[in-house]
Amino acid sequence: MKDWKTSARNLYDGAFRPMFIDGKWCEAQSGELIEARNPADGTLLATVPRGSDTDIGAAVAAARKAFVGPWSKFTPFERQALLLRIADRFEAEWETLCLSDTLDMGMPIQRTLANSRRVLGMLRFYAGQAVTIHGQTIQNSFPGEIYSSTVREPVGVVGAIIPWNAPIAGSVWKIAPAIATGCTVVLKPSEEASLTVLMIARIMQDAGLPDGVLNVVTGLGAEAGAALAAHPDVDKIVFTGSTATGQAIARAATGNLKRVSLELGGKSPVIVCKDADIEKAVPVAAMAVFANSGQICIAGSRLFVAREIHDEFVQRVAEYAAGLKIGHGIDTATDIGPIISARQAERIAGYLDVGAREGAEVLTGGGKADGPDLKGGHFIQPTVFGRVTDEMTIAREEIFGPVISALPFDSIDEVVERANATAYGLAAGVFSTHLGTAHKLAHRLKAGSVWVNMYHAIDPAVPFGGVKMSGYGREGGTEHMDEYLDTKAIWINT
Ligand code: NAD
Repeated sequence: MKDWKTSARNLYDGAFRPMFIDGKWCEAQSGELIEARNPADGTLLATVPRGSDTDIGAAVAAARKAFVGPWSKFTPFERQALLLRIADRFEAEWETLCLSDTLDMGMPIQRTLANSRRVLGMLRFYAGQAVTIHGQTIQNSFPGEIYSSTVREPVGVVGAIIPWNAPIAGSVWKIAPAIATGCTVVLKPSEEASLTVLMIARIMQDAGLPDGVLNVVTGLGAEAGAALAAHPDVDKIVFTGSTATGQAIARAATGNLKRVSLELGGKSPVIVCKDADIEKAVPVAAMAVFANSGQICIAGSRLFVAREIHDEFVQRVAEYAAGLKIGHGIDTATDIGPIISARQAERIAGYLDVGAREGAEVLTGGGKADGPDLKGGHFIQPTVFGRVTDEMTIAREEIFGPVISALPFDSIDEVVERANATAYGLAAGVFSTHLGTAHKLAHRLKAGSVWVNMYHAIDPAVPFGGVKMSGYGREGGTEHMDEYLDTKAIWINT
């Protein structure tokens, strides 16, 4: 078995890691730094530049220069070949990427490793998409020989802003379609998890990505992030993060009316019908929340269970939760890694207090986790609340932690209404062995993705995104390419 601890010691030693602008590795112009600490034990992994508006300005200028210059000469087939080369390099360095992610943001190594199908799939899927970009020849109503057609063109310079909870997949899902379509990118990773994104930039540079096509500016949201969202020479912003930040970004983007797509928060319902296969549904419903310690936008945090089976089902989910191993992400036995930061752990602990105060019953968990192996880290016990009502704070607000609110229901009509009574609309889960019930729920739930008898499935070939305050725009599938392309109509009078 691989010795992850030794590999971890060799990967980060507290030294400075520069950011990436115009093919060069550089400091912030201010010289200021941000510390990158391991959330599992608090050790200093590295420092990164605290980029600000001047660095964003330099990165946008580099991205524009590449867009109108060398990058525009790349044929779709050359962009495809480049993406395939990048995919091969990712595959070769996959373990190092995963280790970096585990150290930087805490996701258990077993889970990061298991994401290879999705991430390598993204790079290869968009490599395929690169050579399928085409317009139409359109019959028009003009008399005489006047021809009309369309061509698809890259939107230009894309500003990408991502959160900390999935840096590899999060950044690749922004960069790969940009390369496929011929756009250039300025990417601002989260200040909580920049290291793996810098590694990704290095891999892409090694694979032959021309200077300026990808620029990574590390920094704070209110500084580098806000400057990118407002920059007048950015044509499009793709953002993943919280709904509040998404709203701020959408407002900032109005200055030059740049296009915006937003993948935001959620409070997703999981509905377990009385005819569900309980044996199969328990672990899936539990991990719908506990995966990545609940720090997943699609976390199925409202668990609606048919009253006939409610008590038994919820008790079994609580037992499953109690059996999960909390620990450092590089321990391969760990199920539940740390929370990203002390601030975030405090925030979750606050929700646990509010839940108990408002009358919910703690069936398991209910507080911070500690112990000799957890020193210096930020850990929260996987928690299941019973006796929850729809009005309680824990049933309404996105907690972004390992917390389930269990709620009984009596009829399909009732549960649809209650499940949809939220500002969010990102995802939903249904457990039923009855085909008609499963279909009815899948169609009536207001969400960007509905999973039946499964959860979490996200694939490069299948569109993903939200409705309502979970955002707009889609990642994945052929629709994703549309987000990075403009359509130009061409008229020719012969
Ligand atoms: P966040 O909104 O605080 O930060 C996300 C990114 O935005 C970070 O890079 C941050 O630096 C930047 N940012 C912050 N303020 C900014 C501003 N004013 N202007 C520009 N950029 C700014 O989110 P987070 O705490 O990092 O992540 C958790 C949230 O992300 C949760 O709400 C979660 O549901 C959501 N999320 C959604 C998806 C999805 O696909 N829908 C995926 C992952 C996470």
